[in-house]
Amino acid sequence: MTTQFTYLQIALPIPMRQSFTYLVPETLNQLSFTRGDRVLVPFGNRKLIGVVLVVSDECDVASDKLKAIIERLDDNSKLTMQQVDFLSLCARYYHHPIGDVVTQALPVLLRQIKPVDLSPPACWLKNPELSEQQFNDVCQSMKKSAAKQKQLLNFICEHDELTWPEIRMAGYSKAQLNALLNKALIIEQTVKQQPFTFKANSVNDDDKPQLSVEQALVISTINQRLDGFSCHLIDGITGSGKTEVYLQIIEQVLKQDKQVLLLVPEIGLTPQTLSRFEKRFRVPVVLHHSGLNDNERLQTWHQTKQGRAAIIIATRSGVFSPLHKPGIIIVDEEHDGSLKQQEGFRYHARDIAILRARQLHIPIVLGTATPSLETLQNALSGKYQYHQLTKRAGKSSISTIELIDMAREQVEFGLSGSLKKAMQDTLKRGEQVLIFLNRRGFAPAISCQECNWICECQRCNKPYTLHQGQSLLICHHCGSQKRIVRQCGSCGSIRIKPLGQGTEQLEQRLLELFPDYSAIRIDRDSTRRKGELAKLLQQVTNKEHQILVGTQMLAKGHHFPDVTLVAVLDVDGALFSYDFRAPEHMAQLLVQVAGRAGRESKPGKVMVQTQYPEHPLLQDLVNNGYQHFARYALIERQQAMIPPFGFQALFRAEGNYPNMPETLLRDVSQQDFSQCMVSGPIAAAQEKKAGKYRFHLLLQAKERKDLHLAVQHVLTAIAGHELNSKVRWSVDIDPQELSW
Ligand code: ADP
Ligand code: ZN
Ligand code: ZN
Repeated sequence: MTTQFTYLQIALPIPMRQSFTYLVPETLNQLSFTRGDRVLVPFGNRKLIGVVLVVSDECDVASDKLKAIIERLDDNSKLTMQQVDFLSLCARYYHHPIGDVVTQALPVLLRQIKPVDLSPPACWLKNPELSEQQFNDVCQSMKKSAAKQKQLLNFICEHDELTWPEIRMAGYSKAQLNALLNKALIIEQTVKQQPFTFKANSVNDDDKPQLSVEQALVISTINQRLDGFSCHLIDGITGSGKTEVYLQIIEQVLKQDKQVLLLVPEIGLTPQTLSRFEKRFRVPVVLHHSGLNDNERLQTWHQTKQGRAAIIIATRSGVFSPLHKPGIIIVDEEHDGSLKQQEGFRYHARDIAILRARQLHIPIVLGTATPSLETLQNALSGKYQYHQLTKRAGKSSISTIELIDMAREQVEFGLSGSLKKAMQDTLKRGEQVLIFLNRRGFAPAISCQECNWICECQRCNKPYTLHQGQSLLICHHCGSQKRIVRQCGSCGSIRIKPLGQGTEQLEQRLLELFPDYSAIRIDRDSTRRKGELAKLLQQVTNKEHQILVGTQMLAKGHHFPDVTLVAVLDVDGALFSYDFRAPEHMAQLLVQVAGRAGRESKPGKVMVQTQYPEHPLLQDLVNNGYQHFARYALIERQQAMIPPFGFQALFRAEGNYPNMPETLLRDVSQQDFSQCMVSGPIAAAQEKKAGKYRFHLLLQAKERKDLHLAVQHVLTAIAGHELNSKVRWSVDIDPQELSW
């Protein structure tokens, strides 16, 4: 009798587009395999970890031509079948190799052959052996200086089981935890490996506000639609209480013992969001973001898969979380660019979250004060349900935006006279000022005063940025560094000066201009160390600093109650950019930054410095608001037939010499794409980066299916082209950045 073999189609972590077929050897149970199993397979003379995509008992290839898998790995670490279906869908949508897509969804430790430790992590809880009396006695005897310990104790008592990452993210230290252990106020255990269930005390009603009419309407509408797929946009001005709306919808989902996946754009947002969630819910909340180490990531993944985690707060890649019993997906700040991965597997977490919700038959909520034009169009056309929150919650008032005409001002260190005056007044009242400058470093260039020579990165043909704190010149395009140049590379003069101003310099100047106040800088340089951002944000909240200088990082969701003046130093670049999304992004940024002012009862003011105060985009935004601006921009996009009124795919290619990438793209574009428009190849806006010459080929179609067909044709042509292996190329579906 011949054996009836089981055939497995397996995704492998190699840069090839197809999956691979293997046999289940006779030594293993043929019937026990499912999609999502992790298996060890021979590949050439290596062994690789793969994930089973399809199990079948038929195969076109003769069994003696196929290799058998070596073994199947730990059951606990397999992907869910639903995840596999989702990943396959993503690979098709983005025309990206399935092996790489699957790899991204696996925690690093599960990509390795080494066995993983999935034993339950430690957690801490109130010592159940102490009587209330004993407990109170010990608490009483704790020193005044142990305030933080007491806070931690409260935190632990309020939650069932807290793990170390949860405690650390809430801002406590190992020493504080150990102190409580030594006093026997808490005990250490391992977490229960069971799905969470909702209990009577799982919600803390203490700080639930009285809902506004608008909030109540959104909540009740969405809560009625929790059983099945629906997509909602909550378009609510900053401070209108969107988070409160999320919290009350989440409560309803938790009551059904279902999990909540909350996607947030950046790690910087998570500490504050986390504390609001932990105040409201006594259910396990886990975090998924790049600040976790590999082991913590694995634990988060595992707890999500087991259903122990009730709420998963995650950045971009959390969209692949192995949900046990999914109830809802919420994408906060859906317009934010960081939801899109810009290299390798170029997915947009918001877009695939919608695909995923549809697959899971659950609702998805997109929230923002400044909807992306794609999302807004879907809401206006009725594809998504459109909810609006038009008033600020509580007592806070809307801030006004004022344009400052730089041509008419006395300018010192990039600050106009009007701004300096407004800063004086604000600081005198004991309130805080936020100054926004989207340029890191001390100066964006250094140049020779004799001959105007500019010190450029040879690999990018772009100026080096001066970083004085690090005593370095750094190229912001390729990351290369060199020592600060003291002599002109052209005429030999030593009269070298910084050109322009970055956040590092601005911070110094502000200290000179306002010596009685403390200034702090928040950008990628000042927050590089782990935990530094949370620390700085806390200092701001504690009012240790009166002036905040920062880049985009500061524009996002942070809540600074005492900031009443926000200044934006330059917006002009976006007004004349050739990227059609630049004005949209500028408007979003301005509105988001403005949202940082006047969050509590004090009114806020926003000052925007520009050389072009009459520019129609700025005028529209300032006089009529984002809503108006966005609708007008949609009309323009419709006329130009660009997204969201058309779909794009961008092929990028780069090589050591310009002719190779250009030839490749030209050759593959010589086809008949009847329903698809082809532009290029053209040199990228930044033609040279890190020593490579870069070219673009843009495909555009009115219908998505025509675009996909055209992309497929180009991919086939590239696969058969002799330059395929000599030129680095990629395809970006729904590209967000056309300039590089
Ligand atoms: P958003 O997420 O829209 O920017 P938040 O949810 O952070 O707004 O709400 C802004 C502030 O208003 C928060 O301090 C929140 O606690 C408070 N808030 C929300 N809803 C209400 C309400 N109905 N009444 C009073 N205060 C509210
Ligand atoms: Zn460079
Ligand atoms: Zn010179």
